[in-house]
Amino acid sequence: MTLALHGIGVSAGIASGPVHVLHRELPEVPYYPIAANAIDTEVTRYRLAVDLARTQLRAVGLPAGTPSDIAEFIETHLLMLDDVTLSERPLEIIRAEGCNAEWALKLQCDALCRVFDEMDDPYLRTRRDDVAHVVTRIQLALINESPQPHETETDALIGHIVVADDLSPADVVLLQQRGIAGFVTEFGGPLSHSAILARNLGLPAVVGVHGARGLLDEDEIIILDGGSGILLANADERAHAFYDERARARQRSRDELASFIGTAAVTRDGQPVELMANIELREDLDAVRASGRHGIGLYRTEFLYMNRPAPPTEEEHLAAYRAAVEALDGETLTVRTMDLGADKQIGSGRSVASNPALGLRGIRLCLNEPNLFLPQVRAILRASVLGPVEIMVPMISSLTEIQQVQNVIELTKQSLARDGLPYDPNIRVGGMIEVPAAALCADVFAEYLDFLSIGTNDLIQYTLAIDRVDDEVNYLYDALNPGVLKLIQGVIEAGERAGIPVSMCGEMAGDARYTRLLLGMGLRRFSMHPSSLLEIKRVITECDCRQLREQVPAVVREGRPEKLRELMNNLDRVA
Ligand code: PEP
Ligand code: MG
Repeated sequence: MTLALHGIGVSAGIASGPVHVLHRELPEVPYYPIAANAIDTEVTRYRLAVDLARTQLRAVGLPAGTPSDIAEFIETHLLMLDDVTLSERPLEIIRAEGCNAEWALKLQCDALCRVFDEMDDPYLRTRRDDVAHVVTRIQLALINESPQPHETETDALIGHIVVADDLSPADVVLLQQRGIAGFVTEFGGPLSHSAILARNLGLPAVVGVHGARGLLDEDEIIILDGGSGILLANADERAHAFYDERARARQRSRDELASFIGTAAVTRDGQPVELMANIELREDLDAVRASGRHGIGLYRTEFLYMNRPAPPTEEEHLAAYRAAVEALDGETLTVRTMDLGADKQIGSGRSVASNPALGLRGIRLCLNEPNLFLPQVRAILRASVLGPVEIMVPMISSLTEIQQVQNVIELTKQSLARDGLPYDPNIRVGGMIEVPAAALCADVFAEYLDFLSIGTNDLIQYTLAIDRVDDEVNYLYDALNPGVLKLIQGVIEAGERAGIPVSMCGEMAGDARYTRLLLGMGLRRFSMHPSSLLEIKRVITECDCRQLREQVPAVVREGRPEKLRELMNNLDRVA
């Protein structure tokens, strides 16, 4: 009988092959006291373990041509090994508590994980996985079980599907070099670095399949669908034939998409649509360029603040924006001011809110912490003379916040003028619409802003009261909820009335299932992960906007979810 397991598909693609189960449970972390005269030896033991972990990580050979952001994941783990939180703090615990190194590292890891768990930004929260991966590496080095089994094995795993509890980015690189066809993990989420890596490497992957290692046998043949998050064991011939055909169809469609590089995004009835990219790291610009000329509709600058003891200086901000402006060669760069959630990781000493998603994040934090915000605003303004640059403000919920931000920008312009530093006096300032109150007040906000950008990731979370990183309520997270659609429609219309552009930069914009709907709602500017650009462009070229604009109002008016889905299916058929 076929066994079907469900998880979260984090990297699309079909793989079929024998299972290779990675068993590498850590033994219980031991506790034992260390006598005062043996503390120095214990400290040295810890230092040697960190050195060994570093040597192992450096030995992860990246093949020529590895994208730089992949190398950066490994580099991030190396930097974490050097960070005081892991290189020094456990030593202080050994000395203060008189305990063994493993226990001191466990205490420090628990403390770090608590901080990450309380962060409201899903990306930063998943950085907890990075801490866990690095700590595991040091723990294994301490108990002399290093390197991890799959790192010492050199035999090929060509065509195998690896099933593991969790995989670090370094694991993914190593396993990919050994020829795996895909992987399944019991833990992890779609925003983890390993998931991002899998997508970059084109490796089908499903995460969050609880108990997978106990349910699957070594060498048994499984089918993995990294798009839908399904894996099938003991599948019959018909299932194999079905998935083989799907894999071939996927390859054909990827080949076809390449022909859209450099073509215009225009609908069948001649409506031009602007496609922009979302980036997080400087290196993402390579992927943007690979799919043609595109501006950046969302630069998530909070990554500039990560993995460092102090916030970036004005010059560091400026260097990052300059690099992006230069790479874009005349296309627009929309810099979103930082949207950090909990502020602890940059050492402000503030206590973490009990409900951080509703706490001091985004623009609230910026207005509260001028030392974090002002260097960024100065740098964006200075970058605005290097090429077309816009400022985009996240998480606005009231006109007062908009006015406060505009005041800060105005004062910053004056201070730059006093310092004799050039800036674009007409720099465009836009706001992200991701709080329901902002969507409902979009008409008023539009009078004060140069553009609006709908952040559906948060707008859905706040409208439906569903924590976007809580997998227990994930099934309720629904872009097609009638309440969400009405808010989106209202924002687009508010922009039309005010004569200012409205874009969408949440995940919904890069999801081809919604492209027709959004075009019919009047959206003409989409910003998305670079890997979605060509597919969305293809769908746009197949659409007839006039027809969609006639049909979509009925979808948006519809309050009954099932009927709404039926109307959505009709859109796919007609236009
Ligand atoms: C959003 O909320 O839709 C968005 C684009 O911002 P982020 O995902 O960075 O919160
Ligand atoms: Mg957001």
